[in-house]
Amino acid sequence: MSLEERIRAGIEARKSELIGTLCRLLRQPSVSAQGLGVDECAAVLRDIMAAHGIAARVMPTAGHPVVYGEYQVPGAHTIMLLYGHYDVQPPEPYEAWVSPPFEPTIRDGRIYARGAGDNKGQLITHVLAVKLLADLGLMPKVNLKFIFEGEEESLSPSLPAFLREHAELLRADVFYAADGPRHPSGRPVVFFGVRGVVGVELVARGANRDLHSGEFGGPVPNPAWTLVELLSTMRFPDGRVTIEGFYDRVVPPTAYERELLARIPFDAEEVKRDLGITAFAGPPDLSWYEQLMFQPTLTISGMASGYTGPGVKGVLPSEAVVRLEARLVADQDPDDIFAKIARHVRRYAPEVEVRLLSRSAPSKTSPELPVSRAIVAAIGDAFGVEPVVKPVLGASAPSYLFSQTLGLPVIWATYANYDEHNHAPNENITIDSFLTGIYASALVFARVAALDPAELRVPATG
Ligand SMILES: [Zn+2]
Repeated sequence: MSLEERIRAGIEARKSELIGTLCRLLRQPSVSAQGLGVDECAAVLRDIMAAHGIAARVMPTAGHPVVYGEYQVPGAHTIMLLYGHYDVQPPEPYEAWVSPPFEPTIRDGRIYARGAGDNKGQLITHVLAVKLLADLGLMPKVNLKFIFEGEEESLSPSLPAFLREHAELLRADVFYAADGPRHPSGRPVVFFGVRGVVGVELVARGANRDLHSGEFGGPVPNPAWTLVELLSTMRFPDGRVTIEGFYDRVVPPTAYERELLARIPFDAEEVKRDLGITAFAGPPDLSWYEQLMFQPTLTISGMASGYTGPGVKGVLPSEAVVRLEARLVADQDPDDIFAKIARHVRRYAPEVEVRLLSRSAPSKTSPELPVSRAIVAAIGDAFGVEPVVKPVLGASAPSYLFSQTLGLPVIWATYANYDEHNHAPNENITIDSFLTGIYASALVFARVAALDPAELRVPATG
């Protein structure tokens, strides 16, 4: 039997035990937003890891703890850092769940529970793969480090300091994580980066109180107009941002990345139908994926002023608020972009207050590195279908912490079924996705172990 066949047979033989271990983890609530059961879950995860031969411990942070683990293989020179998060989203509304969120239940080939897909059912595949390979005598020559955090669903507030403090402990050659759903076609997704984000609030003030719009409208300034006029100076109608220096550090896609973009399935008419729109916005010369992965945006994510309730109210508002969100691409820097937005506001509407609400840097690893190609091939072999390879994900994730703070190539794959219902009621993972995920992790370890260590130490970008 080939290595692949032996791993698959091993998974099949211990199927119910593997599912049982996941259910044990799912049964323990770990809602970081509510502080519900998180510490207890860290202990459960540590115990599971220890039972799988991993030297594991719970490490404190300023918030919820990190569960850290190491698995050393004699003679191995390569180190993989495996990331995941054991905290989950709040399960509310409870009444929308067919079975209770913390009582894992199997129906129609799926395991239903909060965290089944996001992320317990995916992070545990790495742990299960270790014992499987060890028991079969197939553990490849690769050292593994595990960092499972308990605050990802609350935007990882303690992770930056944890990584800085423990940079030496976390030293590795490559970062790998499994999170998110597969493509609607069932193909797994491998991605190499994420966009960054800067959230900004602008507040304009007029009179010291709301006024009668008939008795005062005209001579008294209206802060809603102040903001509208300010916003209209920030971009062209096609979406290109006019803030000075906004595009200075944008890195265009490489030829290989363009090739990857062209291979991602995209049906423009279907997307329009699904979203109920008749046309796309943005510069017409840029494709959907080029906009999402390689172009920064400036979006209005909230606006409030005056009165929009039932009936009519003749009011001249005293205040207007708008929230802007810039999504950033490599190599833009969130602090630099915030400073540029603030300078723009000072120039065009100096009386408007500018507040920074959130920041996260973009991150991008080259899909052309040997380790990038090796992981794409392993995922393709595990799922039996070519992965959808995305140079960058439109959304944001704490990737940059690992690429910038630890200087690692950062590579993500998605194991869960497309309809995992993450962040929603009836979250689930199909048993097939879960078991194939274990196989995928095992193959990833084997393929990374087979790389020449010298090839791995290519400096990461972004
Ligand atoms: Zn999530």
